Amino acid sequence: QANRGDLPVETWEKVKNHPCYSEEAHHHYARMHVAVAPACNIKCNYCNRKYDCANESRPGVVSERLTPEQAAKKVVAVASTIPQMTVLGIAGPGDPLANPEKTFKTFGLVRKAAPDLKLCLSTNGLALPDYVDTITKFNVDHVTITINMIDPAIGAKIYPWIFYQHKRYAGIQAAKILTDRQLQGLEMLTARGVLCKVNSVMIPGINDRHLLEVNKAVKRRGAFLHNIMPLISSPEHGTVFGLNGQRGPTARELKALQDGCEGEMRMMRHCRQCRADAVGLLGEDRRAEFTTEKIMEID
Ligand code: SF4
Ligand code: SF4
Repeated sequence: QANRGDLPVETWEKVKNHPCYSEEAHHHYARMHVAVAPACNIKCNYCNRKYDCANESRPGVVSERLTPEQAAKKVVAVASTIPQMTVLGIAGPGDPLANPEKTFKTFGLVRKAAPDLKLCLSTNGLALPDYVDTITKFNVDHVTITINMIDPAIGAKIYPWIFYQHKRYAGIQAAKILTDRQLQGLEMLTARGVLCKVNSVMIPGINDRHLLEVNKAVKRRGAFLHNIMPLISSPEHGTVFGLNGQRGPTARELKALQDGCEGEMRMMRHCRQCRADAVGLLGEDRRAEFTTEKIMEID
């Protein structure tokens, strides 16, 4: 039995069987992601759009794209096979809120078919303030926002452009809009009692020291958990981050940063950087049992 510690009862009800929000829960409860959201509204330098969104996932793996109907069918099949499945998340492969019809249609279908599942959403935050009401209407309990900076000068090194209100913005102007929208969205959600996790990608020499400031800023706005993930370096980073490429942090550097933030707020240290179509306990891969072909055979 997991330990409630000093958490208020309402918060505890939301975290006790979410494998990402409770370190103890991750041994017992499973989650699944459905990859229904292909488009994205920003460009992160660490993203390779051939693959899943690096907000939540490892570069180098491609998800199986599903329609909302296929996704709902898959959720029902998985939930009946894996009784520990408590959470359905949408995390990509692009940004769920850049694909609002597909995302909320999926949530609506899943709500009807499997009303006990908790709904979870990951986003880069750009469109978030526009969807806070919809998110609460669908009773999405958990939202993850990827926040890599609160200083637009640092943001300009991470995000070459954003697409906002039918216009493309670049450089510092783009990063300023993005950080304002992310923090506003976070504040709006926590004010409505939605549990928020912040993911940050640690990029040595770019935002590593700055993430201490990010940690304080998101805590002030009511984030429940901060998940600092290492940049997983890939050859494409050579051209986007600079001629010498961009390395990821060492395990020691990552731990030192997480330790530096500890005390400010809860830090997540058991993230597995899952794929946008992950199924099972964290660290377990049961996708092969639930391919679209197999799911479509079920009546
Ligand atoms: Fe890629 Fe995700 Fe960034 Fe969009 S938000 S550019 S999908 S890493
Ligand atoms: Fe949880 Fe991390 Fe996996 Fe997201 S990527 S489902 S936060 S373990």
